[in-house]
Amino acid sequence: MNDMSEKPRMPDEVGVPDPFQYMHPTSIENYGNWDWHERKRPGVLHHVSKSGDDLFTVRAGTQRQMDVYTIRKLCDIGDEFADGHVRFTTRSNIEYMVSDEAKVQPLIDALTEAGFPVGGTGGSVSMISHTQGWLHCDIPGTDASGVVKGLMDDLYKDFTTELMPNRVRITTSCCQINCGGQGDIAVNVQYTKPPKINHDLVGNVCERPAVVARCPVAAIRPAMVNGKPSLEIDEKKCVCCGACYPPCPPMQINSAESTKIAIWVGGKHSNARSKPTFHKLAVANLPNNPPHWPEVTEVVRKILDAYKADAKHWERVGEWIERIGWSRFFEMTDLAFTKHHIDTWTGSRKTMNASAHVHF
Ligand code: SF4
Ligand code: SF4
Repeated sequence: MNDMSEKPRMPDEVGVPDPFQYMHPTSIENYGNWDWHERKRPGVLHHVSKSGDDLFTVRAGTQRQMDVYTIRKLCDIGDEFADGHVRFTTRSNIEYMVSDEAKVQPLIDALTEAGFPVGGTGGSVSMISHTQGWLHCDIPGTDASGVVKGLMDDLYKDFTTELMPNRVRITTSCCQINCGGQGDIAVNVQYTKPPKINHDLVGNVCERPAVVARCPVAAIRPAMVNGKPSLEIDEKKCVCCGACYPPCPPMQINSAESTKIAIWVGGKHSNARSKPTFHKLAVANLPNNPPHWPEVTEVVRKILDAYKADAKHWERVGEWIERIGWSRFFEMTDLAFTKHHIDTWTGSRKTMNASAHVHF
């Protein structure tokens, strides 16, 4: 029996740490008291507080998955050339804060010398936020970080300059369903065929009710195959999402022929100027072509070139497309409008997005 006089156990988990312990002293002193800010050059922000304090932030791109030597190098740069305080942005950029403007240029020089480009602010293509399932997840269909490397080799100059009409946020995802994000341009895996079931293994490996419950469109049913308990798929309903593969590896959906890459455009999280939007399909069926995914880079470059040439100042990619119309978008980017752009799925009254029937 519990002794009610005992104090409750403190939770072991730590959750999100208190951010103030890591913040630059000028940030702490002026918390909630900032007056205005400007961008001094690509990659450098200047904030001024109501009390007149200055804080300069220098932003540099990193490769996100870093070995300990690289992290130490970044920290050494922070100790030697900045004031010893750094933060990472959600897009894996590292930011150094300094209160003295005279430190900004030597810091930029040190980062550039060490191979970290300074940029990612304002109308630039910031670092790509990407999933990294190839390292740790159970369902990736490609190496999203490899796609990022292929893309950023080409977009390097767009990171270090601010020549786009507005900020461009790109995301990549290594499966079709889970932790990818909305983006001005989103590069996602696309499975083009329903899973193939290895009936000999299902009975030994999988909990069939768990697999049946996992399908968002109720396309999986228990079945007896050759006298053994197994599963069957209603292929007309299946949307090839890949959700059944993690709890049931014998339902293999990955293959060289059926794992492709799709590019979506016009997504936006913020509600600045216009409401947040989901991205929409621009190109389907690109080859999943490691190690550099040149077909993906070519399409992203076409979209960015058209956006840069035609969008009005401060229009995001989605706002630009809505203004000119989707048919003009396909003309300007020289991309084909195909049957894959038409939602022909008949399993729901309107579209699958109308259903909250998702089991996880
Ligand atoms: S995108 Fe999919 S495969 Fe990649 S890490 Fe997220 S859940 Fe895993
Ligand atoms: S979970 Fe996804 S891939 Fe599997 S059967 Fe259902 S719709 Fe198809």
